Amino acid sequence: MHNKTIAELSAGLKDKQFSSEELTRVFVERAKQFDPKLNSFITLTEDLALEQARQADQRIQAGDNTPLTGIPIAQKDIFCTKGVKTSCGSKMLDNFYSPYDATVIEQLNNTGMVLLGKTNMDEFAMGSSNETSFYGPVKNPWDLNTVPGGSSGGSAAAVAARVAPIATGTDTGGSIRQPAALCGITGLKPTYGRVSRYGMIAFASSLDQAGPLAQSAEDAAMLLNAMAGFDTRDSTSTELAVPDYQATLNENINGLKIGIPKEYFGDGLDAGVQSAIEEALKEYEKLGAQLIDIELPNSSLSVPTYYVVAPAECSSNLSRFDGVRFGYRCENPLNLEDLYKRSRGDGFGPEVKRRIMIGTYVLSSGYYDAYYLKAQRIRRLISEDFKEAFKKVDVIMGPTTPTTAFNIGEKTNDPITMYLSDVYTIAVNLAGLPGMSIPAGFSENKPVGLQLIGNYFEEAKLLNVAHQYQLNTDWHRQIPGEFK
Ligand code: GLN
Repeated sequence: MHNKTIAELSAGLKDKQFSSEELTRVFVERAKQFDPKLNSFITLTEDLALEQARQADQRIQAGDNTPLTGIPIAQKDIFCTKGVKTSCGSKMLDNFYSPYDATVIEQLNNTGMVLLGKTNMDEFAMGSSNETSFYGPVKNPWDLNTVPGGSSGGSAAAVAARVAPIATGTDTGGSIRQPAALCGITGLKPTYGRVSRYGMIAFASSLDQAGPLAQSAEDAAMLLNAMAGFDTRDSTSTELAVPDYQATLNENINGLKIGIPKEYFGDGLDAGVQSAIEEALKEYEKLGAQLIDIELPNSSLSVPTYYVVAPAECSSNLSRFDGVRFGYRCENPLNLEDLYKRSRGDGFGPEVKRRIMIGTYVLSSGYYDAYYLKAQRIRRLISEDFKEAFKKVDVIMGPTTPTTAFNIGEKTNDPITMYLSDVYTIAVNLAGLPGMSIPAGFSENKPVGLQLIGNYFEEAKLLNVAHQYQLNTDWHRQIPGEFK
């Protein structure tokens, strides 16, 4: 059962081939067996899962089910989950049991999905390797010496190893697409505003967006159907109607215009990754698509721009963790200042502190115009590049990451090299566009991800284009050896 997509599991539940309780037990057992190797979960919610599975079975029995009723899911530990520990990968929130559900959790509960547990992640979603987690690094199931990518590394590793059939992630600068690429699965970051951010612990509010980490585009479509939509509790969520993302998966892509940005194929791109991507593009040509060279001239500015905007917003968002209202509080504070200093000093890890310091600096008077304002202006130029490109093409494609999974510890001493792991994903967040990563082969036995970038609110188009590729290839069906 563990190697089935959620589309297949959903059909099996509907036809009563197995119950949700049976299905859930399979994944709970796999999680217990394999998680000690992978470290993909921070919390396993076995009792809750079995309880929810029994309720799902009752719903199926009563005919009151949705396509997702009874399907187990792993949730990134960034989503507030009522009564369940919600740590965001940080010591700061190690003792935090949320009093309420994030909208995403609420929506998926309403469909009758079963919560397997909360997945490991970079601390406050800051990282590209899952090594900044207070709970230790996650291992990539394709090679346990390598990183799964970050920050949604636990979710990606769990799905890749089929310890969970599907999971959620969040993407501020690449955190769904980059781990999806490194773990050989399908990840979708929706358009900014498509999915509610309410109850999703904020990193950089103008960039953060939640989405599915799945085995296939079809599965991602099924989950997005339930996640997307307007939420009165998130002022940046959009009132635009949510299409049925499954309905258009089978549309013919003959004549599709694919933009190939030359900036995504330059220095720094690993040769093995490049050749896998070129093969994938040839496959699209066979499906009737046309490749068109395009330019995204401001691409090289995306990483430096992001590392002004994201730390600025994080320094503001994380000021709420003061030792008074949430989470960790130091022992025996001498006075209020000591309480702030030691609670924050002990509660946050080094990467989070680095970001808070950079953010505070770029927002301080005298530097605001030189850094933050300038970054916002460049952000506009980056969006304009995409706007120009989408006048000529339907989707943009290129590699998701410059290399395949790197070794644990390889980049931890050099933040800049680490930051460059997201060189192809970050611009999409700065522009607020939807982006996907789908498995597109291997380089030296490690998965390679093909990135698809769409115009605003064209998730259905991306899913359709990805699904057509997956009907003709089986990269998304590959499971790492010992987890088969
Ligand atoms: N790797 C990027 C960072 O460290 C993006 C993280 C994310 O998307 N949450 O900020």
